[in-house]
Amino acid sequence: MAYKTINPYTNEVVKEYPNATTDDIQKALTVGHQLFKQWEADKPENRSGQLHEIAKLFRKHSDQLAKAMVTDMGKLYREAQGKVELCALIADYFADHGAQLLAPTKIETVATGDAQIKKHPLGILMMVEPWNFPMYQIMRVFAPNFMVGNPMILKHASNTPGSAVAFEDVIKESSAPDASLQNLFLSYDQVSEIIADSRVQGVALTGSERGGRSVAKAAGENLKKNTMELGGTDAFVVLDDADIDSVADIAWRARLYNAGQVCTSSKRFIVAANLYDQFLAKLKENFANVKPGDPMDSQTTLAPMNSKRAKDKLQSQVDEAIEAGATLYYGNKKIDLPGQFFQPTILTDIKKDNPAYSEEMFGPVAQVYKVNSEQEAIDLANDSDLGLGGIVFSGDPKRGTKVASRIETGMVFVNNFMTSLPDLPFGGVKNSGYGREMSSLGLNAFVNEQLIVTA
Ligand code: NDP
Repeated sequence: MAYKTINPYTNEVVKEYPNATTDDIQKALTVGHQLFKQWEADKPENRSGQLHEIAKLFRKHSDQLAKAMVTDMGKLYREAQGKVELCALIADYFADHGAQLLAPTKIETVATGDAQIKKHPLGILMMVEPWNFPMYQIMRVFAPNFMVGNPMILKHASNTPGSAVAFEDVIKESSAPDASLQNLFLSYDQVSEIIADSRVQGVALTGSERGGRSVAKAAGENLKKNTMELGGTDAFVVLDDADIDSVADIAWRARLYNAGQVCTSSKRFIVAANLYDQFLAKLKENFANVKPGDPMDSQTTLAPMNSKRAKDKLQSQVDEAIEAGATLYYGNKKIDLPGQFFQPTILTDIKKDNPAYSEEMFGPVAQVYKVNSEQEAIDLANDSDLGLGGIVFSGDPKRGTKVASRIETGMVFVNNFMTSLPDLPFGGVKNSGYGREMSSLGLNAFVNEQLIVTA
């Protein structure tokens, strides 16, 4: 695994990083375990001040942290700054609420004595994270587990090492122990070796189905608890009574945000027949209005994709979809800039036997489907092996909510853009994975819920 930052806007190789050695790994496990023993004997409330301090440092270094993300993977600078602020919000949230959410709870029981659940940390966590939100993804696991008392070892994506180092530097600058989060440039085999170590008691991965299967296998073989946050082919359902103007305003952003490289991006637009033509025309207009360019420029609205590899993969998926009968309604032209840009593209007439019907397209490509009834919309939304998120639009919020509850995913938003906030659980079902991050559910992902009955 070569850890390397290649700026996807300039194609410049910015920096390469050496892989971790066996000694690095052993040292990380030793100090991580020492910290676990120390934290195990301590109270979560004693860590909340350090987590608030980390939030403050994120805000203080916002410019520098945002630039690390822009350089690593091409995110628009203003979006990167938004993610730094989200990291600070997540840290503040768990600093404020973590201790209370981890407090012992009494159980009403017929057993003799007082029964209670006490929550303890489990041990070191192995955290494997992707490049698309290279700091927020780390913070989603870091902040709750810092409060729980699980030290973490991070294996970040090989194309975003600069973001991993910048994140770790914030922890080092704070008064939190350095062993709270140790970033190591690991090979896949080294990740498996760490998972097998008895001092490691949990594994959290965000990434592809392929990566998830392989890391979950290593966790399963070693009986380590794990959470998997994998891909999505989220549906954006437009019911026949939806307000087309608000739908149109949200639809293009729901697909193009972060250059379309979001697990919860709307990827399949499922539109009632009476609104279909209008929807397509408005989506095309909005797609045509985006401005590709320098991610540091505040006028730019379309970022490059994160790498040449990602762009080439998307191109081959689009070519294959068209070859298999899809109609190219808009886009798929070369953008005349040196960076890894992909023109926003709209595909229609995708039939069930087209590979695009069941694939996740991780970039600015919208698939648009026409349906003739609410039931057809629900069936189509659910005809996927993935089940992460989704959006439903209706002029009647009650109807929208009813339809939302029939969508087989972990999260659905009605009449709004999907957002991720520290007090809302995040995660999916089916091949989108299992477990939840953030909120009280994420906080409890890696705790020993110990029963104590005192006669
Ligand atoms: P990958 O699974 O390839 O990479 C994610 C991380 O897993 C990287 O750190 C990668 O390392 C690592 N990894 C992959 N295989 C292994 C392995 N066998 N052993 C150890 N580590 C491994 O995902 P992509 O880069 O393709 O990321 C995009 C995917 O992530 C999309 O499918 C997307 O939907 C999903 N995703 C899910 C989210 C969610 O919250 N549910 C959020 C964001 C993205 P390396 O870089 O070195 O290969």
